[in-house]
Amino acid sequence: MKWLISNGRIVDPASGRDEVVDLLLDGGVVAGIGKGLEAPRGCEKMDAAGFLVMPGFIDMHCHLREPGFEYKETVASGCAAAVKGGITSVMCMANTNPVNDCASVTSYILEKARLAGLARVYPVGSVTKGMAGESLSEMGELADCGCVAVSDDGRPVPNGEIMRRAIQYAAAFGLFVIDHAEDLNLAGDGVMHEGYVSTMLGLEGIPAAAAVSEMARNIAIIREFGGRIHIAHVSSRGAVDLIRHARAEGLKVSAETCPHYFTLTHEAVIGYDTSAKVKPPIRTVDDREAVIEGLVDGTIEVIATDHAPHHRDEKDVEFDHAAFGISGFETALALTLSLVESGRIGLMDAVARWTVNPARVAGLPGGTLADRAPADVVIVDQSAKWTVEPGSFLSRGKNTPLAGMELTGQVVSTFVGGRKVYDREEGIIVKTE
Ligand SMILES: [Zn+2]
Repeated sequence: MKWLISNGRIVDPASGRDEVVDLLLDGGVVAGIGKGLEAPRGCEKMDAAGFLVMPGFIDMHCHLREPGFEYKETVASGCAAAVKGGITSVMCMANTNPVNDCASVTSYILEKARLAGLARVYPVGSVTKGMAGESLSEMGELADCGCVAVSDDGRPVPNGEIMRRAIQYAAAFGLFVIDHAEDLNLAGDGVMHEGYVSTMLGLEGIPAAAAVSEMARNIAIIREFGGRIHIAHVSSRGAVDLIRHARAEGLKVSAETCPHYFTLTHEAVIGYDTSAKVKPPIRTVDDREAVIEGLVDGTIEVIATDHAPHHRDEKDVEFDHAAFGISGFETALALTLSLVESGRIGLMDAVARWTVNPARVAGLPGGTLADRAPADVVIVDQSAKWTVEPGSFLSRGKNTPLAGMELTGQVVSTFVGGRKVYDREEGIIVKTE
């Protein structure tokens, strides 16, 4: 299938290109880019005048919930939500049931992704067997069958010695560790950020130190023994400062944050809104400011959703009992464009944090519109205004603190491997082979 996408504003941070040109997709790859491209025989055409044309977004952190929690999300429903959000590649975390700690689970996820035929899915295996934090998973087997990283995300690796061995062992198989940093003793039974809002609401708090202290331990391991680590969902000033120092030392520490951390504050919880209950918790104005500063100066190279869908029965309960997590695929792009609109970060830099940077950090194909690159493309109407209606999410998870909010910026079309998989008029376009 061939597509000529003409007159769009191409924004490709990998090449630094920001200009109105045509883009030709052929044979699943980018086959031409330039002014006045001719449409080859049998080519479908799309006029993208007035729209942004960008590499498909790569989301290094999401939860597709299958196997085991299909009532929250399936690989297919998650992939549909992803491409509707302009995300063409996703890395899905291992906290399924059973945990993705062996070849059979990884293969099952990949087969479900193949059948869905929408986003590219890259499974993340667990660091420890069953995510129990005790013995290392079979990382060689996980790498062989398609895992691209390991993480016990959702839980920390409490034992520093196991973390040290995990970092070394993962590297031997071409994997890397994604660190969910959390001191469980400090986090205790906390359900939101520990601060004046938690006091006011009478809710147990999670101090920022819960994440920062464990991050510091893991950075100390890297400093002394080498290796690399990717820190998930950075949410506080302390974490950003720590990572900035580590990177200045030349340590191989990469980091991601999520749209809710650069958009909201702990005040989102006022009214006991369980849809704003997320781990790590959304913190203060100052923390949000630090996260934005970290994005701007490159301390945080990657934006990821941490898309964590839940069933309404797990959220429509008392705050203490509600599940942690936000359904993030379908709002991530608009929130990123809002940050650009605020003037805090340039469009090129913001798009880099969704494309070339995660591709480089995770060693994935895509993330660029360079010649012969995978034809994963998102076309965006930057000025379209829309209201967040969770009921219209393609994700089974309707849990978002943004319900009713007006956002600007909407996906017009998404292409994966040169095939149009989503269009805002037609919806999800199902594979027809
Ligand atoms: Zn997560």
